Amino acid sequence: MGFLKKLFGGGEPKKYVDKQGVYFYVECANCGARVRVRADKQHDLQNSEGGGYEWHKTIVDSRCFRRIQTVVQLDANYQMTSHEISGGRFLTEDEYLAAEAAAAAAKTRAEAAEVGETE
Ligand SMILES: [Zn+2]
Repeated sequence: MGFLKKLFGGGEPKKYVDKQGVYFYVECANCGARVRVRADKQHDLQNSEGGGYEWHKTIVDSRCFRRIQTVVQLDANYQMTSHEISGGRFLTEDEYLAAEAAAAAAKTRAEAAEVGETE
């Protein structure tokens, strides 16, 4: 049983490490929607001069569907060294997570308010 579980990697998706992916966090300038975008190291990144990588992407958020165009330069360790973006801005992972947590907390408060508790 333990063997099968291990074989299929069942039950613990949080321990999965995505070695093939690089993640970017973008906020739409039009509606403020935040998007987490995965770039596949093998398929999405192009080699650039100097041993780094380049990533060209058109991102579409799920709220206003406006196109966010970006070109990102990465070093050999897949760290962003520079970027151009139109229609949005980059967030750090920390900013993204903090904003998502704040949005979730606000939603919880709104739902709690709907249930009752008028002052
Ligand atoms: Zn948007």
